Amino acid sequence: MARYTGPVCRLCRREGTKLFLKGDRCTSGKCALDRRSTVPGQHGAANKKVREYGMQLREKQKTRRYYGVLEKQFVNYFEEADRKEGMTGENLICLLERRLDNVVYRMGFAASHKEARQLVLHGHFTLNGKKVNIPSLIVKAGDVITVKETSRSSEKFKALAEAAATHTAPKWLDVNAEAFTAKVVALPEREDVDFDFNEQLIVELYSK
Ligand code: SF4
Repeated sequence: MARYTGPVCRLCRREGTKLFLKGDRCTSGKCALDRRSTVPGQHGAANKKVREYGMQLREKQKTRRYYGVLEKQFVNYFEEADRKEGMTGENLICLLERRLDNVVYRMGFAASHKEARQLVLHGHFTLNGKKVNIPSLIVKAGDVITVKETSRSSEKFKALAEAAATHTAPKWLDVNAEAFTAKVVALPEREDVDFDFNEQLIVELYSK
């Protein structure tokens, strides 16, 4: 499936917020958004009035880009969230949180969603003991995600496990970095997601 391969810092500048797409660089003094916060492009610095539709569109793009999801996939998630009981916007965020690549990121075994996606694609993880390589797989309560036995001895995974040991995982994940594993102890709830989304704007956008 085609994915965005352009400069990712440009996406943060476009959305006007840190999307943490470059791992450690995002929290260093080298973050492009910290150094230049204007919208990219010839007219980026112009003070344009943002209308209601523009705000809704930007919120959708921000959320989609944060999780690294393509438009079609995002619409599918929205439709699934809409079919579930409860608030559609909250359902949407909770569904995106349950993607396997996001779980690996939340475990602390990847510095960015992009790295998490690549690690999953390359088959470095198992789900309930079975090898998986589908980043969009949705985890369930009780699922156990583990680094594949043969990957654990690599220098890369030793370093990732060290990083994961100092990482604060959300409460719905019970991470044991030393054992290269995590269990989904509960489904994520909206308040567990520590990122500034305004999901109601997305609901309004798709409800037009
Ligand atoms: Fe975004 Fe990270 Fe680039 Fe900063 S360094 S602009 S947070 S991708």
